[in-house]
Amino acid sequence: MPAIQYYYYMSRGANHFDVIIIGSGPAGYTAAIYSGRANLNVLVLEGIERGGQLMITNEVENYPGFPEGIMGPEMMEKFRQQAERFGAKLISKLADKVVLTEGRPFKVISEGTEYSSDTIIIATGASARFLGIPSEQAFKGKGVSACATCDGFFFRGKEVIVVGGGDSAMEEANFLTRFATKVTIVHRRDGFRASKIMVDRAKNNPKIEFQLFKEISEIYGDEKTGVVSGVKLKDTRDGSILDFPVQGVFIAIGHDPNTHLFEGQLDLDEKKYIKTVPGKTATKIPGVFACGDVQDSYYRQAITAAGSGCMAAIEAERYLESLHG
Ligand code: NAP
Repeated sequence: MPAIQYYYYMSRGANHFDVIIIGSGPAGYTAAIYSGRANLNVLVLEGIERGGQLMITNEVENYPGFPEGIMGPEMMEKFRQQAERFGAKLISKLADKVVLTEGRPFKVISEGTEYSSDTIIIATGASARFLGIPSEQAFKGKGVSACATCDGFFFRGKEVIVVGGGDSAMEEANFLTRFATKVTIVHRRDGFRASKIMVDRAKNNPKIEFQLFKEISEIYGDEKTGVVSGVKLKDTRDGSILDFPVQGVFIAIGHDPNTHLFEGQLDLDEKKYIKTVPGKTATKIPGVFACGDVQDSYYRQAITAAGSGCMAAIEAERYLESLHG
């Protein structure tokens, strides 16, 4: 351990770190690999469901270095092992409170334990959005899901809906045809955000149908068991209602950044993503960096998240160097 780091470690207690990384997707683990390899004293608060969005992803085909593709959870396990190899302390706990505005040391409270650090790297990612209609709640985790990879298996031999017009909706619909007898993509207009290749793949799949200019106004079924038996589809042009029998509803309408811990402390944009200095991961507070989907509403790819995790670690390391002259 270098002398400066050793001094800080010993003088400020076992719960003090050079870097605390909050979040454990490609961005968080990459930041941990680089920080650990730079010989920094690193804590990663991984959250309860560690690994981020790739844990609920099927096969990753576009991450360089895996020409045959790799399953999302397997890839994240490799990221994690690499972070551990370079000495990062990994804890599967959520950060409950973060104090950034009082200056260094920054404080992070998790399950009643206070940790402190000279730098913070935020990599809390984004979470799946739901429709927000009252009837959705009763069926969540049963007949209503935001993860085809996790729950598709339960709909073998059944008919399901996928809501959305982006790449996620197309990908989930295609995946669900492995189990379901019919998959209907419900989208609120006739233009798609999804890439043409993904839309074409869905259109060419004989098990997939489309209900365009439609949104779900109600989900119904047995609220006690969570089993769905149908939805009401509202026409977005004339408001007419179509009763649509179906057993499963998959929501694929995008994500929201996990920034509630930082509201009022860091600058957020209009979509609540953390604002960083252009071309950097620095936030408005010196020593606090943000990487991955929590600060990126545009690319949102595993490879770009990993790249920005590397940037955050290098920026944190240089910031620490500047502190010690
Ligand atoms: P997205 O591109 O933002 O698409 C969200 C879709 O949901 C849009 O069609 C949107 O409709 C619809 N929507 C949003 N709110 C809605 C609501 N309340 N009710 C009904 N519909 C609603 O999100 P995404 O599909 O999750 O993709 C996110 C990013 O990941 C994109 O950059 C995408 O390319 C990438 N991705 C890539 C792959 C791949 O390449 N294999 C796979 C998945 C995702 P409107 O269009 O009308 O706004």
